[in-house]
Amino acid sequence: DETEPVEEVRPQAPVKPMTATEVKVNVSIPEAAERAAATGADGVGLLRIEHMILSTNKTPERYIEDHGEDAYIEEIVDGVRGVADEFYPRPVRVRTLDAPTDEFRQLEGGENEPEEHNPMLGYRGIRRSLDTPDVFKHELEAFRQLFEMGYDNVEIMFPLVNDAEDVLRAKGLMEEAGIDPEKRSWGVMIETPAAALGVEKMAEAGIDFASFGTNDLTQYTLAVDRNNGNVADRFDELHPAVLDLISQTIETCRDHDVNTSICGQAGSKPRMVKHLVNEGATSISANIDAVRDVQHEVKRVEQKLLLDSVR
Ligand code: PEP
Ligand code: MG
Repeated sequence: DETEPVEEVRPQAPVKPMTATEVKVNVSIPEAAERAAATGADGVGLLRIEHMILSTNKTPERYIEDHGEDAYIEEIVDGVRGVADEFYPRPVRVRTLDAPTDEFRQLEGGENEPEEHNPMLGYRGIRRSLDTPDVFKHELEAFRQLFEMGYDNVEIMFPLVNDAEDVLRAKGLMEEAGIDPEKRSWGVMIETPAAALGVEKMAEAGIDFASFGTNDLTQYTLAVDRNNGNVADRFDELHPAVLDLISQTIETCRDHDVNTSICGQAGSKPRMVKHLVNEGATSISANIDAVRDVQHEVKRVEQKLLLDSVR
C-alpha cells in the first residue's frame, strides 16, 4: 500500500516577456503579497503603511497610547516583512503614512483629529509626518530594524512632497533615526505640480527615485477632487497637462540618474503605459490583475520603439 506524497501546489509565476522597462505590482494589503509575487512582477511599486495601522481601527496616536511604541513599530515591521519576504530579493517600495484626517476621524482616537474643510488639501502625507516627528520616528525606526534584519530590498518612499525642503527635512529625520540615506534606496512620490516642476532640486537632495502618484497628480493638476462624483467625468489621468508634467519630470530625472516610476491607478492603463515607455520611465507598477497585460503592452511598445529606431 504505497501512497504518493502529496506535493504542495504553489502558484507558478507565468512566463513573462523580457522588457527593458521593469513591471512591478502595487500591493494594497500585506495579505495579497503571495498572489502579487506570483505575477512574476519585478518588485512592489507601492506598499502603503497606513493599511497596517488603519486595520487596527486606531489612529497612530491612540495605538501608541494603548499598546506602546514598540507594538506600533512591530505592527509596521511585521506588515512590511511579510511582503519583503515574499519578494526577496526583488525590491519593495514602502510608502510612509499618508491618510487624510477624514479617514483618521473614523477611527478610535479620531475625535482628536483636526476638523478640516478640505482634507485632500490639508494635513496628510509628509506634511503631517514632518510636523509630528515623535510619531513619524517610529515608522523610521521600523525601517531601521528591517534593514538591520537584512531586508535590503526595502525602499522608502515619501508621499505628497512639494519641494526639496520637504525632501531634505525627511532625509534629516531618516539620518536621525539611524538610517544612512547613501546606503538605502529612497525617494518621493510626484503628486503635485510643484513636485513635478521642482524635481531637479529634489534630485540634488539625493533621491534615488521619483514615482508618479497619478491619482493625486491628476486631482491637483486639474483641480478635480478625486472623490467628487459631480466632476468624476473630468478626472482624466491622460489629460495633456498631466502627461506633460510626467514627460518633463522623466527627462529631468534621467539627466540626474534618478529612476522614474508610476504607482497611481493609471499605471494599469495601456495608454499611460505607452506614454511612460515612450518617454523612458524606468518602471511601471500596476494592480495585481493588470500586471500580465502591462508586461505585454510594455513589450509591444518597446519593440515598436526599436523598429522605429532602425527604420
Ligand atoms: C496616488 O496618489 O496616485 C497614489 C498612489 O497615492 P494614494 O492613492 O494613496 O493617494
Ligand atoms: Mg496619493
